[in-house]
Amino acid sequence: MDLNFHYYVTYTAACQAGFSQEDALVIARAARYVDECLDVTVQDVKRLLLENINDSLTWNFKSLLKVADIWIPFHFLPGNYAAIRGDIDQTQKDLIYPCTHLICGPESPLTECLVDAAKSAYTEGQDRTKGLLRIGIAMHTLADTFAHQGFAGIPHRHINEVSSVRHFVPNPADIGEETLKKVIYGFFDYSYAPTKNSFGYLGHGRIGTIADVPCETLHYRAHWHSCRDPYITRCNPLEFCCAYLQMTQAMRYILGGAETFQNRLERWTLVDRTGPLWKDVQKIIQVFLCSDTDSRLADVWRLYVDDALWPERYRPLTEDAALEPLFREASGEQRKLVWDNCAPWRNYAMARGGKPPA
Ligand SMILES: [Zn+2]
Repeated sequence: MDLNFHYYVTYTAACQAGFSQEDALVIARAARYVDECLDVTVQDVKRLLLENINDSLTWNFKSLLKVADIWIPFHFLPGNYAAIRGDIDQTQKDLIYPCTHLICGPESPLTECLVDAAKSAYTEGQDRTKGLLRIGIAMHTLADTFAHQGFAGIPHRHINEVSSVRHFVPNPADIGEETLKKVIYGFFDYSYAPTKNSFGYLGHGRIGTIADVPCETLHYRAHWHSCRDPYITRCNPLEFCCAYLQMTQAMRYILGGAETFQNRLERWTLVDRTGPLWKDVQKIIQVFLCSDTDSRLADVWRLYVDDALWPERYRPLTEDAALEPLFREASGEQRKLVWDNCAPWRNYAMARGGKPPA
C-alpha cells in the first residue's frame, strides 16, 4: 500500500468507526509510520537497490532472518494458504512447500488475531495512547494483506517469481508514459534478481511497486500456483475497497460498536448492483480507479470524503518525543504476537538459527 493510503484512508476509517478526530490522528500517523520507522520497514529505494546487489551476493541466514523479522509481522502477514494448498504447484511441492505457508493473504485467522489483540491493548492496556498506536500498526498490516496477497515476505525465488505480467489501467489517455510502457512487462521491466535469495525475490519485488498502486488490475503467472491454472488476476480497486471496509469494521469492533469482527467480505455481494452496498462501493472503486500515484490518491480521496474525515498534514511520529518510543514498544508487541501465533514463521526462523523476538 502507498503511504497516503495508510494515512488518509486509515484516518477516514477510524473516524467512521467512531474514534474522535484526535484519536484517529494518532492511529493514522502510526499506520503510516510503519513504512518509515527503520525498526519495522525497509523502504528507501536507493538502499533497496544497493542492498539488492549486496544481498544477492552475500546473503546468509542472519540477513534472511533480519528481513523476515520485519516483513512477515508488519507487511506480509501470512494468509491461510495451508487451507488451499491444492493450488500449489505439485511439481515444485517439495522444494517450496514449507515456505508456501508464509504467502501473505487477506482475511486470515492471523488478521483476526491481530485485531483482537489490538482491541485488548486498547481496552485493557495500561496506556491508552500506546493502545491507539497498536491499532494503527495493526491497521497497516491489515491493509497490506490486501496489497501484498500472493507474495511472501521472504526473498524466495520459487514463491515470489512471477512472469507473463500484464496489467491494466483504467484511462490510458490520462496516465503517465512510464505506466503505459509497462502494460505488458518486457524482460528488463522485472527487477534484478541474480540469486535465489536476492532482494528482487522479496515480496512483490520482481514487479516493483505496481501491487501497491490502487488503480491497477494485475494478471500474472505466479510460480507457486498450480500447473493447471498458474495465473492470478487481482483487481486492486476492489481489493483496496475491501481493505478500507475491513479497517472500518475492525475499528468499530475495537471500540465496541460491533460485537464481532466479520473477517471476510464477499466480493460478489459488494459489487451486486441491486444490493445495498453498491452505491458506496461504486464511489470508492471510482476513487481508486483514478489513483495511479500516491499524491493522486490523496487528491481524489479528499474529494470523496467530507472535510470532517480529512486530517491535517501528515507529521511523522519523530516530531513527538513522547510518541516515538511508545510506537517502538507497540510494534515490538505486535512482532511478538505474530511470532507466538504463526508457526510457519517460527519454523522458518528456527530452521535458520532464529530466536523468538525479545
Ligand atoms: Zn507495509
